[in-house]
Amino acid sequence: MQQIRIMIRLLLIALLLAPRLFAREVAVTFDDLPDVDDDLHNIARQTNITNSLVMRIRAAGVPAIGFVNEDKLDDGTLLETWHRNGLELGNHTYSHAQLHTVGAEEFDCDIDRGDEITRGVTGRAPVWFRHPYLETGKTAEQRDAVNAFLARSGYEVAPVTIDDSDWIFATAYDVAGWWRRPFIRRAYINYMQQRFEWAEHESHLVFGREIPQVLLLHASALNADTFTDLARMIRARGYDFVTLADAVSDSAYASPDTWVGGGVGWIERWGVTAGMDEVAFEGDPQVPVWIQQIAKQREE
Ligand SMILES: [Zn+2]
Repeated sequence: MQQIRIMIRLLLIALLLAPRLFAREVAVTFDDLPDVDDDLHNIARQTNITNSLVMRIRAAGVPAIGFVNEDKLDDGTLLETWHRNGLELGNHTYSHAQLHTVGAEEFDCDIDRGDEITRGVTGRAPVWFRHPYLETGKTAEQRDAVNAFLARSGYEVAPVTIDDSDWIFATAYDVAGWWRRPFIRRAYINYMQQRFEWAEHESHLVFGREIPQVLLLHASALNADTFTDLARMIRARGYDFVTLADAVSDSAYASPDTWVGGGVGWIERWGVTAGMDEVAFEGDPQVPVWIQQIAKQREE
């Protein structure tokens, strides 16, 4: 009898622990703060987007980090809104500099220039750095030079494993008529679900298991309007939201990375560094053509 009781107790403990043991994990990161489409919006609209995005992140209980382009800050209080609400801030260069075009020296200056402003808001040096366009070096020398500069400045590189194109949806959402927006929102959640599936697949391919993911999003009106639904979709896939530091503490993130060239996600970098063929990482879900066409109207 005693043994049966112990067995039942152990079984109950296992059942209680199971969802936690098998939960997937994701860290949410936002680039291009305060607003990816800042040239389409006046300050009032940017304030509105910032307030509603930050409010929804908090309401969803998600520990997000925002990467700032300080030259987009027409109004310094936008960063304070992120900081005051307990969200982390990282560096994304002052002017969204493209490393492969401007070169390491100018790139490093742009990092410093941004650092000063964000530090002024938070009162401490930013820890995380996210490369614009995920370009980490055109050559091994350039990559190593920038990495050494970042290390000297006390930065850690923020990797991305779910490298979606939410910014194309965000532009389409900004330029589309109001009647199209509900359809864009639905297509966006659907697309993001596919990007999660893709990252889970890539993760199995390289590591034979699912690693904690790092999701790349942009500060946009679209994400301000959809974050509640997005967080619900992610949780429904069995994910817990974790901090960036928690996600990268997984051993997968210490994998060798000798990637040189175009901006791609980190799972592909680790895979290719380990000797896998780049072809294995082709076929990722694309932004639907109708969304791309609406986004193109911006230039017309
Ligand atoms: Zn960016």
